[in-house]
This record gives sequence, structure tokens and C-alpha cells, in this order.
Amino acid sequence: MLELKDLHVEVEGEGIEILKGVNLKVNKGEIHAIMGPNGSGKSTLSKVVAGHPEYEVTKGDILYDGESVLEMDPDERAHAGIFLAFQYPVEVPGVTNTTLLRESYNTIAASRGREELDPLEFDDYIKDKLDLVQMKPDFLERSVNTGFSGGEKKRNEIFQMAVLQPRLSLLDETDSGLDIDALKIVSDGINKLHGDEDAVVLITHYQRLLNYIEPDFVHVMMGGKIVKSGDKTLALKLEEQGYDWLEAHATVNG
Ligand code: ADP
Ligand code: MG
Ligand code: MG
Repeated sequence: MLELKDLHVEVEGEGIEILKGVNLKVNKGEIHAIMGPNGSGKSTLSKVVAGHPEYEVTKGDILYDGESVLEMDPDERAHAGIFLAFQYPVEVPGVTNTTLLRESYNTIAASRGREELDPLEFDDYIKDKLDLVQMKPDFLERSVNTGFSGGEKKRNEIFQMAVLQPRLSLLDETDSGLDIDALKIVSDGINKLHGDEDAVVLITHYQRLLNYIEPDFVHVMMGGKIVKSGDKTLALKLEEQGYDWLEAHATVNG
């Protein structure tokens, strides 16, 4: 489904190289965890796959269903089923969560083979999705981003995923700032949403999320490269030993 080939990425216009040759293959039905120290390029990776204009691919390719997406803008990638949870950057008083979600849903509906939904139909559609992340209905009628707690923001990301039903979900630090109950709710939601036809890339600094979501593969990113890949036991090893032991490894392998 997704293939990164020797992907090199710079900050647009700045000449600073952040990703230095990333190779990664994600098939449908799989969950991949990308771990690594702060500043290793994990968020950049997710943003560049989603088409964020801040970054420029200088070498290599991003293939989705075997086709390069480099010429596709972020909207086109979303239409094709690529999802990066969007954080609402600002408070938007007067615009409710539902309104914004319905707009997103309807914008991509046609290209995902779905009917557009009017407000009533949409209310119906999202009702059971609320339960998935144990969100109270009044959450939907709140203005965008006004007074969301950290946990609500993260649950909202999974809620977006439930509503939009992407094929490829990129979840960046979905576990950060969650207490254990919220972590369970969020993990549970991801597990329920994931199936044989979609793939999930979980970016996480900590192993604890992987106690609840079992990845098929774990990759370690350091210095803009994937320096090691393995199964879920790699995450446990990282939890015990940190990233330092890979430092030497990373250098040895260039
Ligand atoms: P991670 O998510 O693994 O913590 P990031 O992908 O956020 O790492 O960042 C990787 C490196 O690239 C960091 O050193 C960060 O400061 C730098 N970086 C990311 N985006 C930009 C940007 N827009 N401008 C300048 N530097 C950036
Ligand atoms: Mg699976
Ligand atoms: Mg990050």
C-alpha cells in the first residue's frame, strides 16, 4: 500500500535535510510502529506522506498503491484515503466540530465511493462512532478546539479516523499526554477501526502504547533514517535499553 524509497526530505526553501534516505514498506492489514528519540524525523515522515507543503522531497519516492504521490497535493492524498489526524490550529468560535467533520467527510465522499450526507444523515452516521472513543455527544456541538483538553484532542483524532475511514492512517504521538484510561480508550478505538483492508502507522516515543496495540513491525528512526526494524519485541528492548545501543549501530551502518 505504502512504499517509501530512499526518501530524502528537506525543509522547503531552507536546505536543511531532515530525512536522509528512508525505506519503508507497509502492506494493507499491517500496523507499523515508528519509534525514535525526539528530533529524529518521525513527525516529518508523517507530514511528508500526507503532503505537507513545508517539506520538499529532494530524492527518492513515496508510492501509494504503486503510484507516486509526489505530485498530489494534500487534498488529493486525503481523497485517496491517506489520513493524518489534523490538529485544529486555532479556536474557531461558532464553527462546531460536527460541521467541520461533515465537511471533511463530504469532501472526500465521492472519491471514496460514498454518498454525501446532509446534517441529519451525518448525525445518524456518527452516533455509534462516538461510543468508540467514549465521547459525549455534546462534544460534537462544541466550537472547534475551544477548551479541548489534551485527552479530548487525542480522542478527537481517533474520532476523525472513525468518521473518515481512511485506508492508511498516520497517527503521530496519539498517546502523548494521555492518562492510562484515555490511553486504553484510544488504543481500543484504533484496534476496532483497524482491519484487513487498511494500514496504520503509529508514531510513538514510548513503548507503553504498544502494550495495547500490537504492531506487526517496529522501526527505529534516528538521524532521519530507519536504523533498525523488527517485531514487537524490539519495542520492549527499547523500553529496557533506550536508544543508545543503536547509536553505534546507526553509525556503523552509515
Ligand atoms: P520527531 O517527530 O522525531 O521528534 P521531527 O520530524 O519533528 O522529529 O523533526 C526532526 C528534525 O527536523 C528536528 O531537528 C526539527 O527541529 C527539524 N525540523 C522539522 N521541521 C522543521 C521545519 N519546518 N523547519 C526547521 N526544522 C525543522
Ligand atoms: Mg492487522
Ligand atoms: Mg514528532
